[in-house]
Amino acid sequence: MNDTVLVIAEQRNNQLNPHSLEVIAAGQQLAAQQGLSLVAALPGATLDAGAASLAETRLDDLLLVQHDLLEPYTADAYCAALGQLMAELNPKFVLIPHTYQARDFAPKLAASLDRSLISDCVGIKPGESGPVFVRQLFQGKVNADVVALGEPPYFVSLQAGCWPAESVESGSATPRSMDVSLDASQIRARAEAPERGAAQAVDLSSAEIIVSVGNGIEKEENIEIARQLAAAIGGELGASRPVIDEGWLPLERQIGSSGQTVAPKLYLALGISGSSQHLVGMKGAKTIVAVNKDANAPIFKHADYGIVGDVMEVMPALIKALQG
Ligand SMILES: Cc1cc2nc3c(=O)[nH]c(=O)nc-3n(C[C@H](O)[C@H](O)[C@H](O)COP(=O)(O)OP(=O)(O)OC[C@H]3O[C@@H](n4cnc5c(N)ncnc54)[C@H](O)[C@@H]3O)c2cc1C
Repeated sequence: MNDTVLVIAEQRNNQLNPHSLEVIAAGQQLAAQQGLSLVAALPGATLDAGAASLAETRLDDLLLVQHDLLEPYTADAYCAALGQLMAELNPKFVLIPHTYQARDFAPKLAASLDRSLISDCVGIKPGESGPVFVRQLFQGKVNADVVALGEPPYFVSLQAGCWPAESVESGSATPRSMDVSLDASQIRARAEAPERGAAQAVDLSSAEIIVSVGNGIEKEENIEIARQLAAAIGGELGASRPVIDEGWLPLERQIGSSGQTVAPKLYLALGISGSSQHLVGMKGAKTIVAVNKDANAPIFKHADYGIVGDVMEVMPALIKALQG
């Protein structure tokens, strides 16, 4: 016992949250480092499609924690079901994607076993007495190394974009159902239909290309050109906080410490200075292209490609080139 790394994967409406695959990649790395086996568990009611995605990864076991009362999601039902999984599996490490849902149930699950949660980690490295978990402090200005003390299981949630999903080793796991007993009386919350902030609410964390606008866009009318650029390049529109505060784009488009954390293949930063609060949300992008009229803007230190220029000249030129 205590010889397992357990990944708690996440799905909604039978679709695997792609962040789960990043956590599988981290789990594969941790299990190899510590000589442990790797088990993934997928909680929910309808799981076949999510399970099929997980089954293509290299795992020692794949458990479907299936019960009708796990849909719609509630922290009470998840903790009751996953508590039974913990008792059966007795894992050493429990890795969880740091999603909104996990932020809701993971601290409760850890506390129910009298354990703490090392949350929102951006790295795992080998240490003398076990793995060292890296967390960011002060809006990403400082990294803290955290070592788990006391008895396992050690609960750890991982930030999106820190382990590339493409680095997951593939395999062929056979899903296995695990019976859990749940009673409706255990569930104290009643979930309402998910609320969408806007008709076209978007999950930027799974976007492959993001065209992101900052204060340098100068006025609301100019957003339309960025929208055309996003359409031309096949990307989603994102923004820094001032653009959201002005009400030029909805909150769901905000990227950064108080917005979404994203990890696209391509991130176009248009008129964004590169504050630590913005960087913390997009530094996981594979390729960063920055356009800024100030050659000394901090964003250029993080960009793979930089254009010193006026966004209002560069955007139309890019659209023309893409459409040409
Ligand atoms: C608690 C807290 C949480 C926060 N959370 C977030 C967050 O989640 N996300 C976030 O983004 N910010 C966040 N912020 C705000 C953050 O500190 C910065 O103020 C913000 O990121 C700056 O946005 P910006 O780069 O668009 O604007 P600015 O800093 O004003 O930069 C605008 C840039 O555009 C350039 N520019 C101007 N005109 C042009 C032009 N015509 N062509 C090209 N370039 C031009 C300028 O040279 C400048 O570099 C937070 C702040 C706090 C205190």
